[in-house]
Amino acid sequence: MTTSYDLIIVGAGAMGSAAAYHAAKQGAKVLLLEQYDLDHQLGSSYGQSRIIRYAYDHAAYIPLARAAFQDWAAVEAEAGETLYVKTGGIDFALPNEPVFQKIVDTLHAAGIPYELLTADEAMARFPQWRLDPDMVVLYQADAGLMRASKCVLAQVRLARQYGAVVLERAAVTDVKPSGDGVGVTTASATYTASRVILSAGAWMRRLMGALGVDLPLQPLRSHEIYFHPGDPASYTPERFPTYIGHLYSEFGAATYGIANVGGAGVKIGLHGGVNIDDPTMASREPDLSVVEAMERFAARYLPGQWSRASARVCLYTMTPDEHFIIDRHPEHPQIVIASPCSGHGFKFSTTIGRILSDLALKGESPLDIGFFRLSRFAPEQARS
Ligand SMILES: Cc1cc2nc3c(=O)[nH]c(=O)nc-3n(C[C@H](O)[C@H](O)[C@H](O)COP(=O)(O)OP(=O)(O)OC[C@H]3O[C@@H](n4cnc5c(N)ncnc54)[C@H](O)[C@@H]3O)c2cc1C
Repeated sequence: MTTSYDLIIVGAGAMGSAAAYHAAKQGAKVLLLEQYDLDHQLGSSYGQSRIIRYAYDHAAYIPLARAAFQDWAAVEAEAGETLYVKTGGIDFALPNEPVFQKIVDTLHAAGIPYELLTADEAMARFPQWRLDPDMVVLYQADAGLMRASKCVLAQVRLARQYGAVVLERAAVTDVKPSGDGVGVTTASATYTASRVILSAGAWMRRLMGALGVDLPLQPLRSHEIYFHPGDPASYTPERFPTYIGHLYSEFGAATYGIANVGGAGVKIGLHGGVNIDDPTMASREPDLSVVEAMERFAARYLPGQWSRASARVCLYTMTPDEHFIIDRHPEHPQIVIASPCSGHGFKFSTTIGRILSDLALKGESPLDIGFFRLSRFAPEQARS
């Protein structure tokens, strides 16, 4: 096999698969290396669904979301399969909740259409819900779900069709800058490339530490939890919008959910999780307390019969401000670094893959990524 490439990508999750697709489509000779099998369950990207939405509390995400809706449509057309399912989405909160208000302000400033509903109006439209009478609700029609695992696999398939080499069970043990290029070592081979993209999810800190940069990243054990509703017809994507409940004082974090797709059940989730040291060694046993908290959520806000379907651990990789890191290594610009997670990166992943590919192959991206630079963190945090 050839050992010399234009671009090597480390990690075939949402970000790496997208970067491989975009780079190979542009004609680059690409090698994508994944330490486990494709679509494995030990990282961040596996699953039936992830929410896609414009409703953000920071303006930096609006151009990314606009691009992502377009880029996903292009991937769908090329892959010949449905990856985005439009459901509409609601955010709800008690009055004067600051994050909710920032979302309204951001959508308003960006000219994205939305509706503000009273609790009664929302419950008339979406009778699954039982909200408190004084709650405020925002409805945004474009929100929906991405078929997460299908997105990853479709982009890997397309990348291969464009000539990319994709190797599974190929854990990268060393990345070394060498002149203008880079050497990448696995247990069985050393490859060279002009550029490398590191999109290793919860394993990023270790990889970058060996390259002299201590990224301020904290992996978390989060959960993907599904319940079967007693009334399945009310929880199809046509009838049940994705939701984010800004119930910080009640549940300690945002709650979110997604309609039943693929027979998995309704996803009822809690943002965040518990810090872990080592993503490889972290326990994969779900915490019953989180499942029970989501049962309480359902009993209180989505009245009806619910039975447990499944629960699994899924990793988040958090930055201190919960915004992404998309940049180049401060001393070795041939190394592009990507940590676009903090529990909300999937929706943008095909666009971020395009950005990463452009940064690696062209040195810049037409999309403004200034907000996501590593240098926003204190120099002592960014440098080891
Ligand atoms: C429960 C849960 C719910 C979420 N909900 C949403 C949502 O609704 N909407 C949304 O937009 N986002 C959501 N997210 C976040 C989103 O899924 C992540 O931001 C995204 O999947 C991150 O992708 P990634 O490619 O960076 O990481 P990963 O998918 O973890 O990919 C990194 C890959 O690198 C590989 N790797 C690591 N080290 C090496 C090495 N040395 N050699 C080779 N390979 C290596 C890993 O095995 C892994 O496959 C959610 C995440 C979770 C866990």
